[in-house]
Amino acid sequence: MSFLSRLGITSSNPGAAGAAGFFPTSGPEVISTDPATGEPIASVRLAGASEYEQVAADAARVFQDWRMLPAPKRGEIVREIGNALREHKDDLGALVTCEVGKIRSEGLGEVQESIDMADFAVGLSRQLYGLSLHSERPLHRMYEQWHPLGVVGVITAFNFPNAVWAWNAMLGLVCGDTVVWKPSLKAPLTAIATHRICDAVLQRHGWGGALGLVVGGDADVGETMVKDRRMALISATGSTRMGRHVGEIVAHRLGRVLLELGGNNAMIVNRDADLDLALRAILFAAVGTAGQRCTSARRLFLHADIADAFIPRLVRAFRSVRIGDPMAEDTLMGPLIDAGAVEGYRSAIREALSQGGTLLTGGNVLDRPGSFVEPTLIEARADMPICREETFAPIAYVFRFTDLAEAIAQQNAVDQGLSSAIFTDSFRDAESFLSAAGSDCGIANVNIGTSGAEIGGAFGGEKDTGGGREAGSDSWKAYMRRQTNTLNWGRTLPLAQGVKFDV
Ligand code: NAD
Repeated sequence: MSFLSRLGITSSNPGAAGAAGFFPTSGPEVISTDPATGEPIASVRLAGASEYEQVAADAARVFQDWRMLPAPKRGEIVREIGNALREHKDDLGALVTCEVGKIRSEGLGEVQESIDMADFAVGLSRQLYGLSLHSERPLHRMYEQWHPLGVVGVITAFNFPNAVWAWNAMLGLVCGDTVVWKPSLKAPLTAIATHRICDAVLQRHGWGGALGLVVGGDADVGETMVKDRRMALISATGSTRMGRHVGEIVAHRLGRVLLELGGNNAMIVNRDADLDLALRAILFAAVGTAGQRCTSARRLFLHADIADAFIPRLVRAFRSVRIGDPMAEDTLMGPLIDAGAVEGYRSAIREALSQGGTLLTGGNVLDRPGSFVEPTLIEARADMPICREETFAPIAYVFRFTDLAEAIAQQNAVDQGLSSAIFTDSFRDAESFLSAAGSDCGIANVNIGTSGAEIGGAFGGEKDTGGGREAGSDSWKAYMRRQTNTLNWGRTLPLAQGVKFDV
């Protein structure tokens, strides 16, 4: 695999990098394996709490100067980081595919998302604007300005091992923050390669340490980082279980937190939907990335008028998905991340069937090396407990409805609130889905599936999804602190609200 050597990945890699680049780490070795074959790719020697301390101290020190570099100058460096990612897109995309099993176009798409984030951040670097306000006092002026926040601790999930970090890091850098990254131990090589590419640009400009990397365990490195008061913001992406725990710790020290957690996303297919469109969208949303996106469609609400004809089409489409080597150009679905995920798939199907679900297609683990499973459709009732859970696998539950308001209520009746979609040609039904009484999710789409968001919009969800917003729109504000300034350019000192305090 020559892309590994071009990315600087050797058979054994150090798990920490700070101001002086990568340095030796002394923790246990973990082996990253290819989920399509079960074969080892390379190993990483983990960092521990003392190595975390070194990286965090570097990031805190570099912040003192980085915050004073004018934002457009920071943007110029981020532009070069984006270009470096462009140069390595092919290799880095291959590594994403190799390490987490995404198909080739999705591996490349993930790196493209990071490049898009860099471009977006460069533009933002000249737009980090505040408001100018009218003072109630004569010869006074009020305005708001946004200052860099500090060091941002970024925790990432395995399933977006490159782009989710870029959402945070590109914005954080132009906002004047420095960043310490704790990636998932299921995808450490992508983090190491990504860091090496981006850090080389910073080192060239004398800004080594603005980005730090610590590949370590949750108990020592993860918990230490979350408790560390130097981390002005903890941005954590992963399961709701992890986010609840991390959120509590950060709240206790009154730090800032940005949580991007689990989803349980639904698609509603109305009686007047364009069914060809709906079919293609469901297939990508439910089966794409082997159902391992936070935005994957897991619940399908079909209008009773179209359900009988549409379900056989869905079944045929699910059965026609080409499963196999994610590196092969014609593969549509690669493996799950590991044996634990396969067990999660098996047990969810067992529970669904024991709770009254009917298997329409799929349900099997493939008899071959790697963690391959079949795309699965189960006809279910919305009150089945398993349908309220996020199973990170290509399983979709099918429900029938007659009343749209009832379908929307059922869609909303889960703890998660990330993404949602309706397929309809009715203007009124589309608008009612998007209204304040409609979908309660952070993302609500019409005639587009639940997954595959563009970076220009703010990304995130409500309720157990954590409430965070990342990437586009005004998400940058999470990475800065707001300051309100009042200036008196007169020669008297009038007080607000008419208060008198004259001696
Ligand atoms: P996970 O919760 O197992 O791990 C996520 C990250 O949290 C990893 O880096 C892990 O090491 C870290 N972590 C776990 N315990 C920690 C602790 N005590 N302190 C500090 N860090 C800790 O999730 P996963 O299996 O890697 O990813 C799948 C989950 O992520 C799904 O629930 C999915 O929906 C969610 N996800 C959400 C989004 C989003 O934007 N909403 C995006 C991608 C994934």
